[in-house]
Amino acid sequence: MNEVIAALRRQATCLAHILGYTARFTLWVIRSPDGLRSRTGRILIWGKIRRSAIVCVPGLAARLQRKHGLAGHCAQCGASCNLLMRCPQWDPGTHLCRIYESRPPVCRHFPMTPADLRDVELSTDGGHCGHHFENGEKPIRFDRS
Ligand code: SF4
Repeated sequence: MNEVIAALRRQATCLAHILGYTARFTLWVIRSPDGLRSRTGRILIWGKIRRSAIVCVPGLAARLQRKHGLAGHCAQCGASCNLLMRCPQWDPGTHLCRIYESRPPVCRHFPMTPADLRDVELSTDGGHCGHHFENGEKPIRFDRS
C-alpha cells in the first residue's frame, strides 16, 4: 500500500512539474528574443516538441536509443536541463535534479536520437553530453545565428 502511495506521489510530482514547466516555457518562447525569433531557438524548440512527442509513444524512446546505439553515461553537466531555459527543478549549485526520482519521461530518456546531442552542442556552444551514439548517424549540423 505504501508503495502505491509513493508511486502516486511521484506521478503527481511529475505531472505538476510538467504543467508548470510547460506554462513557463510557452511564455518564454513567445517573449524571448532567443525563442521563436531566433533560428537556434526554433531548432531547440523543435527538439523539445520532438522529444515530448516521442515519449508519448510507449517504448519508442528506448527503441530509438537502441537503433542509434546509445552509449556512454550521464556526466551530470546539466545541459539537457538547460536547453533554451533553465528547468526550475535543476539546482545550479549541485548540478542535480531536485526531483530526480520523479523526473518526467522526457528527461529520463534524454538523449533519444543524435539530433538531441546536436541540440546540446547548439545550446552550449560546442559542449558535449556524456552519451554518444555508436551507429554512426550524424545529425544535420546548424550554425548558431
Ligand atoms: S546533457 Fe547528457 S551528460 Fe549532460 S546532464 Fe544531460 S544527459 Fe547528462
